[in-house]
Amino acid sequence: MTSALLDIAGIAVSPDHYIDGHRVASGETFELHSPIDQQLLGRIGEGQPEHVEAAIKAAQKAFPAWSGMTAAQRKPYLDRFAAEIGKRADDFCRLESTDAGVLLSRMRHGVVPRAMLNITWFAEHALTLQDHPIETEQARHIVRHDPAGVVVIVTPWNAPLMLSTWKLGPALASGNTCILKPPEWAPLTCSLLADAAHAAGLPPGVFNVVQGSGANTGAKLVSDPRIARVSFTGSVPTAKWIAQAAGANLVPCSLELGGKSPFIVLEDADIDSAAATGALMYRNAGQVCLAGTRFLVHAKVADAFVAAMRGYVEKLSIGDPREESTEVGPIIHPRQVERVAGFVERAVAGGARLLWGGAKHPFGAQYYQPTMLTDLKQDDEIVQNEVFGPVLTLQTFDSDEQAITMANGTDYGLGGVCYGETAHATAVAEQVQTGFIWVNSFGIRDLAAPFGGIKRSGIGREGGNWSFEFFCNIKDVVVPKKPFKASFSHR
Ligand code: NAD
Repeated sequence: MTSALLDIAGIAVSPDHYIDGHRVASGETFELHSPIDQQLLGRIGEGQPEHVEAAIKAAQKAFPAWSGMTAAQRKPYLDRFAAEIGKRADDFCRLESTDAGVLLSRMRHGVVPRAMLNITWFAEHALTLQDHPIETEQARHIVRHDPAGVVVIVTPWNAPLMLSTWKLGPALASGNTCILKPPEWAPLTCSLLADAAHAAGLPPGVFNVVQGSGANTGAKLVSDPRIARVSFTGSVPTAKWIAQAAGANLVPCSLELGGKSPFIVLEDADIDSAAATGALMYRNAGQVCLAGTRFLVHAKVADAFVAAMRGYVEKLSIGDPREESTEVGPIIHPRQVERVAGFVERAVAGGARLLWGGAKHPFGAQYYQPTMLTDLKQDDEIVQNEVFGPVLTLQTFDSDEQAITMANGTDYGLGGVCYGETAHATAVAEQVQTGFIWVNSFGIRDLAAPFGGIKRSGIGREGGNWSFEFFCNIKDVVVPKKPFKASFSHR
């Protein structure tokens, strides 16, 4: 049995699961509201144990045939999958803008093209995965990348389409079958992904979607001993829970987590460019894991930097993300708005000073002003913890050593930004403990490059071969070059 399709601004989208090539309705459902105006968008299926069971069985059943294909045989399916996303690009854009509050302009120009590339790039790149031989004097080692099995993918609400395809692309291209658990606060584009996969003719069970909450559906999926991998992007507390649940079955996890990344402005930085990039940290209302949210600015240029950045921030257009001109949209959920406001209130009560912002924004109940706090100590809550909203902090330093110590002075280690004369900024950037860092730039992401965090920001790397190494069992088939004579003294 299937549910009636939801009509979201003229886009028909299923609230059901997608299991074994079919839509499956759930007896239990939950309400989905738009972050823009809190409008009820519909009721979404809450995956029950029987849906988790059916999805795992379907993915297991589909695995032998899908993994038995060569990468070249899988590629046309995946190219068609990407093409189907492209055909419905406008629907993907408007849907994610409505249910996740992501800027329509960003969906059109960044996210949807990238979602397609996430599929086609890995489909192409998987062709290079065929047996890499290592030749030594005594043997030929055929190093195989065999698909691991049934993969569970769990994604967060701030970038559901981008992050789901970023994981699905390499998982499917290397021959795994997948179960996607979308974020319950923004599940709609993941449902549309199932339509795209279906239209592309992906064999039943190769790609399944089970909707539902993390605590219920997600927890059941990641705890199942029959799965081979968990690929998770989300928060640190959830990651700890998942690592324990999967760890009980010795199932490997890839964990892409939160950040509190430094944005360093050295004395010799181009202040105007640094300030323009600084204002970008309010994109997606600051709900971006890789944003540089802790500004560390050389004391000699701090006043000039603050004045320049204030100029850019005052010009930001805040409003409905479905308008092409909007630059800052809503916060995902009323609970998240309260969380953000609470961080600011506690910081100010503790002696921090507001450079700008610090209150809800009049555009709507889920809007918060772009905010910058200063007069902070390194161990202040707001310096140490991820806010995941449009709230930044600014501290000053007098030397490179001090900047590096402050940059490294949190439990996180996801990304970073460093502005300064290029050689100088590069030397400082190299000493920041983080998974990646941008010099005089921000947000350059190449699919071949590694992405991921250290410390509490995660375990593992995604991108290029790193994705395949996670989703594959790497096996060495050793073939001796000379006849092998058994001997107890042989090493
Ligand atoms: P979250 O951890 O609350 O939820 C993420 C996903 O996990 C959701 O689909 C949720 O339903 C699911 N989940 C929750 N509990 C679960 C459980 N017990 N078992 C299985 N699944 C469970 O995170 P969020 O609030 O949706 O996302 C925001 C966080 O994600 C921030 O910390 C942000 O920094 C991080 N993030 C990191 C990256 C990255 O690449 N490093 C990218 C985007 C977001």
